[in-house]
Amino acid sequence: MTNENQHISPTQLHDPWDREHLWHPYTSTLNPLPTYKVDSARGAKIKLVDGRELIDGMASWWCVVHGYNHPRLNSAITRQTEKMAHVMFGGLTHEPAIRLGQLLLEMAPKEMHNVFFADSGSVAVEVAMKMAIQAAVARSGSHAKTNFATIRSGYHGDTWNAMSVCDPVTGMHGAFGSALPVRYFVPQPRSRFDGEWDPSDIAPLEDLLRTRHDEIAGLILEPIVQGAGGMWFYHPEYLRQARQLCDRYGVYLIFDEIATGFWRTGRTFALEHAGVVPDIMCVGKALTAGYMTLSAVLTTADVADTISRGEAGVMMHGPTFMANPLACAVAVESLTMLREQPMEQRIAHINAIIKEELQPAASLPSVADVRSLGAIGVIETREPVNVGDFQRLCVERGIWVRPFGRNVYVMPPYVISDDELRHLLRSTIEIVKEIAR
Ligand code: PMP
Repeated sequence: MTNENQHISPTQLHDPWDREHLWHPYTSTLNPLPTYKVDSARGAKIKLVDGRELIDGMASWWCVVHGYNHPRLNSAITRQTEKMAHVMFGGLTHEPAIRLGQLLLEMAPKEMHNVFFADSGSVAVEVAMKMAIQAAVARSGSHAKTNFATIRSGYHGDTWNAMSVCDPVTGMHGAFGSALPVRYFVPQPRSRFDGEWDPSDIAPLEDLLRTRHDEIAGLILEPIVQGAGGMWFYHPEYLRQARQLCDRYGVYLIFDEIATGFWRTGRTFALEHAGVVPDIMCVGKALTAGYMTLSAVLTTADVADTISRGEAGVMMHGPTFMANPLACAVAVESLTMLREQPMEQRIAHINAIIKEELQPAASLPSVADVRSLGAIGVIETREPVNVGDFQRLCVERGIWVRPFGRNVYVMPPYVISDDELRHLLRSTIEIVKEIAR
């Protein structure tokens, strides 16, 4: 316990009370990494309490697509607050939920027909997995068809079932051991997004589904971009062949578009790079442009109706804050704003700058690979990067980037200016040079 007096000043950059009492993501209480106290944020810039401004390279973990403190988003949420902040979704409905559902179905593949609102990305994954089980059991009449297949190096969230389909080595299996359900993992496809397709990439999935389809309800994948599991961009052909295998073996295909959705990869959804339609898809993160936590699970009418014809007769999930009106209202405004702009051009422009500016990093001895797709740029280093050191240097240079493992990556707000983006990328390379020798 610390003395309350340790909370010296609201303008102190590293707050000792925070350090002593607040848990930050994946953080030790014995030796926490420093945290930097933020005063406010606007556009693509985060302002620290000491007055320094940082160009945000992370869009607060993929979600702040329109930048911080946007007048239209502020006003959408304020207007909704004056009507109602919340109302239960059991037996009641409201315009923000209806409008958001309509927008999502207009933007998603036309086969999507039903929308389930959930609280966060991880919960959307839980819901999607529950849906796959309910539908698979109802369709096959077999209670054995309840397991899942996925590829290695994936990341799907921190709740129980989401964790179980994260990479078994870099994910959280080590910490939770036998408490986690055991899933089927096949190797990550190695064919690069923009490279040649190697047909042997699909063989392990084919073997697995052929031999185990009786036990497998769903195959869950992050389409094209594996995010927090390694920032890897793989070949669209993998998704096309996975779709065919799922059809052949009666396995539901679940796409986790939580990180990739809403133009991050240059298309409305990453699945469009492959022209593949899943049975169930999860969206979150950028859905509310970083204002509120909200996610949605979209399904085909076939999945929804199969669940409804099953033993339970209903979809077994219904959280307190389902379809929260504030979150829905701000999401409606955000999606409307995205649809008003020529987003394909905007993201292509961002990508051209990322490609150009990151190119010099490819020849650095400490760098193993450089890649980019849409508004994502990755420098993969040969050795893991020390996050604390990296972030200290970021703050000194007026940028905000948070690497993990051997991945130093940026995915800025779409409103970032060309100058800000160039400064962000050049400074990132300087820091890589300085610390990853
Ligand atoms: N799926 C993917 C692909 C993600 O990147 C994340 C978050 N990083 C999640 C699921 C979990 O989302 P949340 O953190 O909102 O629970």
